[in-house]
Amino acid sequence: MKKVIGIDVGGTGVKGSVITETGEVLTSQRIATDVSKGREGILSCIYSVIDRLLSADIVAIGIGSAGRINVHTGEVVYATANLPGWQGVNLKQELEKSYQLPVVVENDANAALLGELWQGAVANDDTLTSVTMLTLGTGVGGANSLHKQIINGGHYQGGEWGHVIFIPNGRPCNCGMKGCLEQYLSGTALVTMTNKATNRTYLHGKEIFEEYASGDLQLAPIIDTYIDHLALAIYNVSITFDPTAVIIGGGVIDSKEIWWQLLLDKLVNYHVHLQVFPAELGNDAGMLGAAKLAFDHVKEGGN
Ligand code: BGC
Ligand code: ZN
Repeated sequence: MKKVIGIDVGGTGVKGSVITETGEVLTSQRIATDVSKGREGILSCIYSVIDRLLSADIVAIGIGSAGRINVHTGEVVYATANLPGWQGVNLKQELEKSYQLPVVVENDANAALLGELWQGAVANDDTLTSVTMLTLGTGVGGANSLHKQIINGGHYQGGEWGHVIFIPNGRPCNCGMKGCLEQYLSGTALVTMTNKATNRTYLHGKEIFEEYASGDLQLAPIIDTYIDHLALAIYNVSITFDPTAVIIGGGVIDSKEIWWQLLLDKLVNYHVHLQVFPAELGNDAGMLGAAKLAFDHVKEGGN
């Protein structure tokens, strides 16, 4: 049976899996992204994940990486300081040279949406012709699709919802602009905002959601505003791209049982005419989408 390796490169972790043509995940590896040494550190994380997963029946490698990716050349044409030194690296060239296997590269959120379209939240519903995805993790990722095809745009930044300016002159963003959505809606932003407001030191959004669920009143207004911002972002997506469905993914989705109903309640105020789904593949969506791209690439005779 043919297998590929699907990799997801984010600001916090590099995750990889061996995946079959039917979308079955066979084995997985995850390591923390080493951002301390810039490009070399990140590359060596990718190499060690691939090395641990490689076997003779792997036919291709698919990568979803944060940043704007030239999907034709495999180059990271732009990356924020979440992945220092990442801009300019040609992942396709690097990895094809090292492994002698076809390599295909996409933006991580685009890969996550492809994963959900293939195996996840909207896989069996052909009435959902245009689907947008927002991923809430270290950063905020975004992706737009029409008839299951990603709309990359003219400069590979189509659907970068995380860098839409949400508050003029707002919080400085790692992309160099101010007030980007990412600074209000990422898991990282939730932790920063909560620590500042409560004088505590949370490390992960998960802890914040759990303490909120257990009735910590100090956290209630913070979560309320955070989810309201998510509803507002979905409203803006609905007004600009007008998709039939929006999928919400990324690490924050792991706590969805705690906040999903609050989101649905908030959305009522925004009168959006679209369906909203949590990513069914959770945080694995990116690896699966990268794997799907790799299979498609091999089928098309790509190398
Ligand atoms: C990057 C995006 C990426 C997102 C999620 C953002 O900071 O600019 O390219 O998709 O983080 O990783
Ligand atoms: Zn930004």
